Amino acid sequence: MSTKYIFVTGGVTSSLGKGIISASLAKLLQSRGYSVTIQKLDPYINVDPGTLNPYEHGECYVTDDGAETDLDLGHYERFLNVPTSQANNVTTGRIYQTVIEKERRGDYLGKTVQIIPHITDEIKNCVTKLGNTGIYEIVITEIGGTVGDIESLPYIEAVRQFRYEYGFDNVMVIHLTLVPYLKAAGELKTKPTQHSVKTLQSQGVQPDILVCRTEHELGIEQKKKIALFCNLSENAVIESRDADTIYDVPLLMKEEKLDQVVLDRLKLQLREEPSLRKWKDFLTKFKNPKRTVKIGLVGKYVELQDAYKSILEALVHAGVPNECAIDIVSYHSEEIDEENIEKQLGSVQAIIVAPGFGRRGLAGKIIAIKYARENKVPFLGICLGMQCAVIEFARNVLNLKDANSYEMDSKTDHAVIDLMEEQKSVIDMGGTMRLGAYECEIQPQTLAHRIYGRTDISERHRHRFEFNNEYKSQMEGAGMVFSGINPKSGLVEIVELPEHPFFLGVQFHPEYKSTVANPHALFKGLIEAAVNEMEAVTA
Ligand code: GLN
Repeated sequence: MSTKYIFVTGGVTSSLGKGIISASLAKLLQSRGYSVTIQKLDPYINVDPGTLNPYEHGECYVTDDGAETDLDLGHYERFLNVPTSQANNVTTGRIYQTVIEKERRGDYLGKTVQIIPHITDEIKNCVTKLGNTGIYEIVITEIGGTVGDIESLPYIEAVRQFRYEYGFDNVMVIHLTLVPYLKAAGELKTKPTQHSVKTLQSQGVQPDILVCRTEHELGIEQKKKIALFCNLSENAVIESRDADTIYDVPLLMKEEKLDQVVLDRLKLQLREEPSLRKWKDFLTKFKNPKRTVKIGLVGKYVELQDAYKSILEALVHAGVPNECAIDIVSYHSEEIDEENIEKQLGSVQAIIVAPGFGRRGLAGKIIAIKYARENKVPFLGICLGMQCAVIEFARNVLNLKDANSYEMDSKTDHAVIDLMEEQKSVIDMGGTMRLGAYECEIQPQTLAHRIYGRTDISERHRHRFEFNNEYKSQMEGAGMVFSGINPKSGLVEIVELPEHPFFLGVQFHPEYKSTVANPHALFKGLIEAAVNEMEAVTA
């Protein structure tokens, strides 16, 4: 099978939604029967985003094989319902690391190692690596950053070479730009797009399709003008209007015939009409909810739109089977205290305590969990949220007042959450957490079992600390149930409180595995419990 390659670049500004456009195109191609994967190349020096804090880079997404990746990979999985892997996200740092390792090994046989050809060759290798798996008919490669940035240059050069080497019919470039609306003039302006395309051309790359982000309709005249200035046919100028939800974008792109223009350009058959029935069913239900539940999300990065992206999307997915709109109310854990807790969280039907690192905001999380436990508000603690649930239980039920996580207080007498054994010798911070998919065995007759409907599950992880098994029997004696355990290591994966209608802490991140086609059981269960909570109050 010869693979076709589509590169997606961005111009004018960042944050235009290249990830969503790439995922939407992939969805349309997938729905026509093509096997597609999407890859993200990120032009920064970090080897992966695992060492970046959410203020810098939003959420760090994690794949089954333990890659810490850009959050766009989350969109790819949520849209396509196909897992991604290490190979789907590569940064400049990783490219240079590989090249420098090869140089140190002597692989370049005495040659001077240079950006061209060595870095560009390595970039191309990263792309063909996916193509050569033989699994995909189409590989979509999204190039992070904006054309014209110094960092992007080697990538654009690699695209230029790639098209030359793999042939015009096999490789194409989609350029995403902004067409701003000038209110005072009452006009859409195409000049930034023209300049952005010129920049790309000056680097040797002619885009095949322009996707123009715009707040207003791009009329035929504007399309013609853009086409004329950018050497394109009119049907290759695609309008991308702001959408109500990201899940509308595949349908909007279908209306604009993006998939047809792409297939035509790559000399691929149209095959069948996209079968988007399930996708449309999802959207119809999403847009016509029967009720609304309020979910409180407690974390310390709540002011950032992207910090908890996968959790927010998992809630959207979980609302649909419950015919429910989700009103997510964010709470900054540093602003929660004993006095204001009722006022802050009194009106929500369920509480999620988010993942996180470090001591800041810990007290507020513990207060929120105590409130959820005592008032029987449905609760889901994710990763640090689960660890906080254990600390709260130890402090307030077992009366171990200084119980803590070793991460927060290495001198505590009661490290109910401790550093994992294999973490004790770790020096480098990058890529060294317990990462990726691990198995978990669920105990029958527990809430976890009811929710998953099975005893063997696999979920994705990203943490260094773990439940300290020395406290297990003491906690069990006081009513905590350890309903999910890793069968190989004995690490605790799920804790729950049977006296409570829905109280679950999970050491893993269920949000990474929720997709439109497959909303995650835990989030579905939480929303169901929230609906029950709401109906009990209004009954
Ligand atoms: N900081 C905790 C740990 O490393 C939790 C991590 C998380 O929430 N992802 O174990």
